[in-house]
Amino acid sequence: MISCDEATAICDKKQYGEATWMERVKLNFHLMLCKHCRAYSMQNNYISRLLSKYLDDSCESDHLEDKEKHELEEKLKIHIKDISKN
Ligand SMILES: [Zn+2]
Repeated sequence: MISCDEATAICDKKQYGEATWMERVKLNFHLMLCKHCRAYSMQNNYISRLLSKYLDDSCESDHLEDKEKHELEEKLKIHIKDISKN
């Protein structure tokens, strides 16, 4: 089995669509057995979903307004609190 370091590295690559099929298989296998990496992966997915939503919404400008940054920060805090409960 791959190590947690390798798993998180693949997880990051996957985020940018750079992970190979084999890497994704290894990652999924690791995620089934390792709850720490599962939490990391969930957090990663959540952050990119959130970010792409914000970037889609604010297509007028290529950066987030202060209000949006604050909102994003609050959502992340709540999400991270939720994950660490498990
Ligand atoms: Zn792990």
